[in-house]
Amino acid sequence: MAESAAILSPQKTVLMPELSAQCPMAAMITPESLRKEKEKHPDAAVVCYVNTSAAVKAQSDICCTSANAIKVVNSLDEDEVIFVPDRNLASYVAGHTEKKIIPWNGYCPTHELILPGDILLEKEDHPDAEILVHPECRPEVVELADKVLSTSGMLKYASQSGSREFIIGTELGLIHRLNLENPDKIFITATRYAVCPNMKMNTLGSIIRALENNEHVIKVPESTRVKAKKALDMMLDVGRGD
Ligand code: SF4
Repeated sequence: MAESAAILSPQKTVLMPELSAQCPMAAMITPESLRKEKEKHPDAAVVCYVNTSAAVKAQSDICCTSANAIKVVNSLDEDEVIFVPDRNLASYVAGHTEKKIIPWNGYCPTHELILPGDILLEKEDHPDAEILVHPECRPEVVELADKVLSTSGMLKYASQSGSREFIIGTELGLIHRLNLENPDKIFITATRYAVCPNMKMNTLGSIIRALENNEHVIKVPESTRVKAKKALDMMLDVGRGD
C-alpha cells in the first residue's frame, strides 16, 4: 500500500512506520515468477490485486481491489486472465465472469483461518444474523455468506441494512470500526483468530517515531513506478465509468 501511494504521488513523502509490516500474501509472488506464468499464457491479460509489490504491478496490465475485481476483469478484451496473487479472490471472480481465470496460488493467511465451521457455529447461536464475508476467504466460507463484500463494502452495507446482528468474516480489526459506526448493532467475529499480525505491527508509537524522524521513506525506482502506475491508472479508469 505504501508503494501504491508512492507510485501515484511521487512528489509526496510516503513513510512506512514499520518496514516489516508487509503483506505476506503480496510476498507470495515475485516479478520473475509472474514473468514465467505470462510466458505460459501469452494471450492472457494480467490482473493483480492491489496487495502486490510495485514490481509485480509493473508486470501487470491492470490492478484491482476486492471491491472492483469483477468489474475490472469483465472490462478486459482478453478472454483469459491471469489473476494474482489471491486464489480465493480469483475463485470468487471466476464465479462472476465468462472469462477463463488462471489463478495464482497465493492466499491471505489471516482470511484462510476462517473456516466454514466457524461461520456455522456462530449462525447456530445467532440465527437472525446476516453473514458478511470478504472474498479473500476460502470458497467454502464464501458459499455460506449472505453477502460477499470488500472492507469498505461491509462498512457501507452494515450501516444501511435493516438487520441488527451480523457475523463478520474478515480481519478482526474491522469489528472495532463497525462497532464505532453502528453502536445500535451487534457484530460477531467469525473467529477471534482472524488477526493479521503484520498489520498489527504498526502502532501509534511507531507512527509518531516515523513522523518525528521522517522514516522510512518509500521510493519506487522510476522505471518500475511508471509501468506500475499504468496498471493502477487503468483500474481507476474502469471506476470512472460508475
Ligand atoms: S490481512 Fe494481512 S495478510 Fe491478509 S491481505 Fe491484509 S495485510 Fe495481507
